[in-house]
Amino acid sequence: MNLFTVFGNPISHSFSPKIHNYAFLKLGLHKNAYTKTLIQNALDLKAKFTSLALSGANVTVPFKEDAFLLCDQTKGIATKIGAVNSIVLENSDLIGYNTDAQGFLNALNSKGSFKKALILGAGGSARAVACILQEHLFDVRVANRSPKRLEFFKALGLKTSLSHELDDFAFDVIINTTSAGLKDELLPINADILQKLATNKPFFFDLIYGKTTPFLQFAKTNNLHFSDGGDMLVWQGAIAFCLFTGFDDLNKVKELMQTAFRF
Ligand code: NDP
Repeated sequence: MNLFTVFGNPISHSFSPKIHNYAFLKLGLHKNAYTKTLIQNALDLKAKFTSLALSGANVTVPFKEDAFLLCDQTKGIATKIGAVNSIVLENSDLIGYNTDAQGFLNALNSKGSFKKALILGAGGSARAVACILQEHLFDVRVANRSPKRLEFFKALGLKTSLSHELDDFAFDVIINTTSAGLKDELLPINADILQKLATNKPFFFDLIYGKTTPFLQFAKTNNLHFSDGGDMLVWQGAIAFCLFTGFDDLNKVKELMQTAFRF
């Protein structure tokens, strides 16, 4: 039996077990199973990985930066991002990957063609979104409610702002990577600022999925095009699935996961 899980806090909302288990079933990978595991801190993550004898795991809010630090090695864009959302056991070592970055880009590309992006939030997923957009030559600004985590983005050479000091409102896509709206009914940024941003008719992309967050409700009310994080979840999950299993037909896995997600 190869066991996989998703670690996070909160974790009850996660669709990852549903989409991975459906793909295992449909591809005849009956010796694999995927669960969800609530943890209180990053040390629990490593201890549980060992005690559950996991072959791999996903990591979600708020442990992606901790996961980066506790992996024995990181590969691909995870090294630049400094955040890990997928861990694979390779020759007794924990190898960290970041599939959020490519998963986000695939999802965004299916919504339209954009050039100038405002990222709200500066946590692990914001790093993934910023790095992949920078690699693809987007004009990127990152706005966060507090200054500390903006340092990472400044070091990348990106424009940054404190959310309440934002003074550029001309973006064609606004991406909510904060957890505002996940467990609460908060906007990620002041409503007056959102109203100014709305005048340019940007696309609203929320990484949160499975609910209409206040951010998406704002877009709806203002007749703006928008998407939740469902497609990103499916893409990042499909990329992680291929890393976990060695299965190499990414589009097939994505199709299966999309079906499971819609059930
Ligand atoms: P982190 O905990 O690493 O970062 C959270 C960020 O949100 C920080 O910048 C924090 O600001 C900000 N924040 C938290 N609460 C508020 C608030 N009330 N108002 C404004 N800003 C706030 O989280 P992650 O980056 O790992 O994940 C963020 C979200 O993205 C989660 O909701 C997660 O579910 C979702 N996600 C979805 C994915 C998908 O596949 N669809 C993939 C990855 C993430 P500060 O620095 O000031 O604390």
